[in-house]
Amino acid sequence: MKISCKEFELELKHPFSISKFTRTSTPLMLLRIEYEGVVGYGEASMVPYMGESYESANTFLKLVDWDKIRFPFNFEEIIAYLDSLAPGQPAIKAAIDIALNDIQGKLLNKPCYEIYGADPAKMPVTSYTIGIDTLEIIREKLKDAEAFKVIKVKLGRDNDQEIIETIRSMTNVPLYVDANQGWTDKIKAIDLIYWLHNQGVVLIEQPMDKNNPDGNAWLTERSPIPLLADEAVQRLADIDKLKGAYHGINVKLMKSCGMYEGSRMILKARSFGMKVLIGCMSETSCATLAAAALAPLCNWADLDGPWLTKNNPFNDPAFENGKYILKNLPGLGLQGITSDLFL
Ligand code: MG
Repeated sequence: MKISCKEFELELKHPFSISKFTRTSTPLMLLRIEYEGVVGYGEASMVPYMGESYESANTFLKLVDWDKIRFPFNFEEIIAYLDSLAPGQPAIKAAIDIALNDIQGKLLNKPCYEIYGADPAKMPVTSYTIGIDTLEIIREKLKDAEAFKVIKVKLGRDNDQEIIETIRSMTNVPLYVDANQGWTDKIKAIDLIYWLHNQGVVLIEQPMDKNNPDGNAWLTERSPIPLLADEAVQRLADIDKLKGAYHGINVKLMKSCGMYEGSRMILKARSFGMKVLIGCMSETSCATLAAAALAPLCNWADLDGPWLTKNNPFNDPAFENGKYILKNLPGLGLQGITSDLFL
């Protein structure tokens, strides 16, 4: 195996605020793995609050004995091996998993979605995220969102209703809400959830603190719309303890160590009768196509990464009527790779 990587600062179109912080770019580690003449691409999106960095990613990549990884890839064993090298660090592990999935598809001459049993005809629409901002900038951002059939709104500060009213003055599309653990009083939260339901909100992510399972479960019992765990769930083993506390989960490849474990999480949650949203971090087309390959297995998709950023180094994924179009190409179907990207 020949490994190349590239530190890449992915710039955001607008400074991005959620209930706890603001940022203007995201450090990525792009990965190129060549295996017996076949090249696969992967990506780690290392949003600062998850604790990974260029330094941790470079250190991790040096720990891997690449000769241990041979086709046919046993992803169960590969992820266990990566976990044995260091705990945590799901984003750089995801980059490796995504690149190997790309190679696997190319070796089998099949698209990744076909390998995971995902039917492109069942692709859900994807939402476009509006971060917390002034009402004036929120109006500006809504103009960028015209190609999308669903808007996801970040709430969790003190003017949640004002933000929703501003959006509703401009569009009638269904809304997803992400509170990012910002709601602290369950009585106020349930009142707000009913109000949001009347405003056409169809799901809510992470209403209260991830370490408050009782508060979130109390809301889940009473909410007229699905409440999903996001910060409260990272990996497969986390799902057992969420049963009953939420109606569903938000799976992200940068939390799940990539496509293999992400696909196991989707199946496990659905076997519990839970619903699944597949989400993303700030990502290029590479990680977005990996998630889009699994999106038909999910109820909802929130894969707006490439549309919120300015310098995606690859071609934008095919997108029509608010949905990704999965192309019949082997592997991820990533296109527009320039020869000097990994120099
Ligand atoms: Mg979220």
